[in-house]
Amino acid sequence: AAARSDEPVPASAALFARASAVTPGGVNSPVRAFRSVGGTPRFMRSGRGPHITDADGNTYVDLVGSWGPMILGHANPAVLEAVSAAAARGLSFGTPGEGEVALAEAIVDRVPGVDRVRLVSSGTEATMSAIRLARGFTGRPKIVKFAGCYHGHVDALLASAGSGVATFALPDSAGVTASTTAEVIVLPYNDLDAVRAAFAEHPGQIAAIITESAAANMGVVPPRPGFNAGLARIAHDDGALFIMDEVMTGFRVSRAGWYGHERSVETSVSAVGTADQPWVPDLFTFGKVIGGGLPVGAFGGRADVMAMLAPNGPVYQAGTLSGNPIATAAGLANLTGCTADVYAHLDRTAGTVGDLVDRALDEAGVPHRLQRAGNLFSVFFTDAEVPDYDAARTQSTAAFAAFFHGMLEAGVYLPPSAFEAWFVSAAHDDAALQTIADALPGAARKAAQA
Ligand code: PMP
Repeated sequence: AAARSDEPVPASAALFARASAVTPGGVNSPVRAFRSVGGTPRFMRSGRGPHITDADGNTYVDLVGSWGPMILGHANPAVLEAVSAAAARGLSFGTPGEGEVALAEAIVDRVPGVDRVRLVSSGTEATMSAIRLARGFTGRPKIVKFAGCYHGHVDALLASAGSGVATFALPDSAGVTASTTAEVIVLPYNDLDAVRAAFAEHPGQIAAIITESAAANMGVVPPRPGFNAGLARIAHDDGALFIMDEVMTGFRVSRAGWYGHERSVETSVSAVGTADQPWVPDLFTFGKVIGGGLPVGAFGGRADVMAMLAPNGPVYQAGTLSGNPIATAAGLANLTGCTADVYAHLDRTAGTVGDLVDRALDEAGVPHRLQRAGNLFSVFFTDAEVPDYDAARTQSTAAFAAFFHGMLEAGVYLPPSAFEAWFVSAAHDDAALQTIADALPGAARKAAQA
């Protein structure tokens, strides 16, 4: 297709036309298509530090970070070096290798409660396998999930999911049969009474509760104090498992993920009331940061539960490229780079960006609410507190779209949806923050006019 003369990004537009001729919607993952914000998706060519550069040569400060993996910034030298060194030794063997052992050790070492871990190639595979394992271990059929929580495109979990499903306002997905979701109970996030009621209604039938450790796929909705602990208690009282999905939060909000972060807060603030009663998830799922930008996921937890997996036990699970040497090398280098200084920088940077956004939207008179879960945050274009998916959906997506394009034109790449978290990296320095600060007033005025 010929580029329009007023097309601001002709190279991206030409690539999008080519892509749309051979790939549904021109993208390999829906939110990339800019459907909810409008306009031409930017086709990225390269990245370095906090920046990404598109096919037209425009450079942006990146607040997506490949949706989480690029916690050290783009083209981090140590990660690239680990990948090159691994690649030079061969790409895949389909046998065990040392790299996957080292990555598994790094995960077990960082997260209390993870005794054993199995590597897979995406977050979706991790949650799919964890669900199967929970059902296999307990011999029970039902799963509790929360509206607005996204756990990948696992058939059974595409019921009231967040992320792209929220962006496109799909109640769930065509092609998922009623029998597949029949055993899934969807409840409002942050509502322990609803969870108690579900267990009272289905005693001995629920295999597991799965939750995002801090919800970040309907925008960022932190768990209320005691929510996760309460879930663990309710599940365990009935003999069910508690699965924490840390695909997004794992190794990002702290060295030990959200669980480690929450437990350390509980220990220092006894007011939460659970410090004397330790709670541990039975299973965790991971992805993103543990792949450093290459396809890696993982699930792990209690040794006796994980012992049910093939080849030790009757729950089957496998993968041609699971534990791939290049991917595990990238992941290990990424984790190794996540020092205490990096986490301190991420927290500070998230705070600074959040404050800048708050101030700019305040000054432009735009109703909004900034919500944070550790160094993950997002802005809801609404006045009200957002504790769950119903509240998240009351925001103005038109205001977000105007704000998004204002930021994009000023050189800041935000998640192209109002229902996604924003991601900072170790490479977001003062210059990157200045670009964001300079972009905000104009974008906020655009949001005010939407
Ligand atoms: N769980 C959570 C909490 C996620 O945020 C995501 C992806 N954003 C997934 C699972 C699925 O991971 P993947 O896209 O790697 O399949």
